[in-house]
Amino acid sequence: MNEPFNYDFMEHAIYLLHLLEQNQVEIDMLSADSSQMDFLSQEDLRELRVACDLMDKTPGGILICQADDNQQILYANQETLRIMQCATIKDLRDLTGNSFWGIIHPEDLDMIDRTLSLQSFNEGEPLPPMEYRILRSDETDRWVEDYRRLVRCEKIGDAFFLFITDVTDKRKIRQQELDNALERANTAVVAKNAFLTNISHDIRTPLNAIFGFTSLAKNSLQDTEALVDYLNRIETASKKLLDMVSQVLEVTALSTAEKLTEVECDLRAMGQEVYDFLRPHAQEKNISYTLDCSSIKHSGIYADQEKLKQMMLNLVNNAITYTNPGGSVSMTIEEGDELPGQEATYYIVVSDTGIGISKEFIDHIFEPFSREKNSTLSGVHNIGLGLTIVKTIVDKMGGTIDAKSVENQGSTFTATLHFRTQPLPDTSAEETETAQSKQTILLVEDNEFNREIETELLEKMNFAIVPAENGYVALQKMQQAAPGDYDLILMDLQMPVMDGWETSAAIRKLPDPALANIPIIALSASIFLTDYQKSEESGINVHLAKPLNLPVLLETIEELTKQQ
Ligand code: ADP
Repeated sequence: MNEPFNYDFMEHAIYLLHLLEQNQVEIDMLSADSSQMDFLSQEDLRELRVACDLMDKTPGGILICQADDNQQILYANQETLRIMQCATIKDLRDLTGNSFWGIIHPEDLDMIDRTLSLQSFNEGEPLPPMEYRILRSDETDRWVEDYRRLVRCEKIGDAFFLFITDVTDKRKIRQQELDNALERANTAVVAKNAFLTNISHDIRTPLNAIFGFTSLAKNSLQDTEALVDYLNRIETASKKLLDMVSQVLEVTALSTAEKLTEVECDLRAMGQEVYDFLRPHAQEKNISYTLDCSSIKHSGIYADQEKLKQMMLNLVNNAITYTNPGGSVSMTIEEGDELPGQEATYYIVVSDTGIGISKEFIDHIFEPFSREKNSTLSGVHNIGLGLTIVKTIVDKMGGTIDAKSVENQGSTFTATLHFRTQPLPDTSAEETETAQSKQTILLVEDNEFNREIETELLEKMNFAIVPAENGYVALQKMQQAAPGDYDLILMDLQMPVMDGWETSAAIRKLPDPALANIPIIALSASIFLTDYQKSEESGINVHLAKPLNLPVLLETIEELTKQQ
């Protein structure tokens, strides 16, 4: 704190105050009657007046005490008197027994005594502040902060200069902030516990099915029909489990992600893709299913393509899931007003004639793990994270989402988003070129079982597969290859001899750019943020999580090889 005082000057003033005290003359008399102060010279009187005037005009409280055990009060300025609710210094002396100790609330005396006895007082060095309650004449509890400084005073011994501030209101605000932070932390703990309870409950259901049908399958090895049925059920339960794990990871990743990425993309094509992807689901349930993008003027936008598609997918998937056979579901992507700076508003509206959502539930629909209480209504037992993901994505994109519903009549979800727009490149020529000739994939995978499955799946998709059992073998193959021998590398990451990251980095350094720039897709169970960063650093184009999701892989292959 700034101290406006010249302590040499104050040393003499303190001595004069001490003289007043010894002669039992109150400082309050200074301006009224100086005749009682004939033991002071005119010069001393003038100096004392100047010093007291200066202290009284100081906005903070000042208290001067002797630096001995008793800490007798020598002076209190106007602000100190106000804080203590005393009219005069005499009142303060009466209230406190004329000692600094009398100012302090009895419950804080020990603490201050201990603090002061631990401090070493060096002249000129301000001491760390102390906070304590004071005893006021009106008996209300107030808190003060006191900075003190030792002033050497040869004639009377040392004195303390105390700068006092009333910090009661500041403490109340601080306390309120602490209470709020504690409440937030408690809410987070409750949410985390609810999260864990929900997740462990929800994970057990498919796990039970997997265990149960596995043991049934073991006992039915001779009965092929039953065996296939059990395996199908195990597959369904495994898929459900995987969906849950992916959704939980997605929510966690989204909530920690600072910003979404923005790429050039085609909104109409995205809508079509989502529509096509879910068409079998709608057909299975005999649901009339439509997509309307007719009002889109600017289909080329800048957005996080994957997140936007995921958001639409979750909404449309719910609409189909919660609509009974014979009902209808529609997705409309509307372009609204054009905004300044090449931006436009888009409305993504997903409507269904399904079971609807109750009034009580609709306000909680975007909360994690929220599901309609009466889940028998839909007969669907999902985890309740799909709409949390939707809302998080919309929030991250700076948009809003609104849900309207009437029970047994249907629901409409409307997401309002703003995107920067861009002219669309003409892609028609490129498209005819793809999928002409068989593409060759160098499949780098150390696990024989995985290698076998992936080879079979990809060969069925008309790819030629060249296997490599670790990174080193793959690198050798690339060193011996001619440009065009391979169209793409599918790379496992954790492998013996040479891992996928090291191998990819080495491939990127090959002298022939046609080989060095080959697209590399990592396919790995390493899915922590650091793993993704490592992939990016080693030159991997796309890092996909295991287990293999064939449609996503095919889409990624198409995108990467199209760019070649
Ligand atoms: P879930 O994985 O359970 O579908 P969501 O977060 O996507 O999780 O949805 C939460 C709940 O909201 C669902 O369990 C369902 O009760 C209700 N819900 C979501 N969409 C619809 C819809 N279109 N019609 C009726 N109910 C819906």
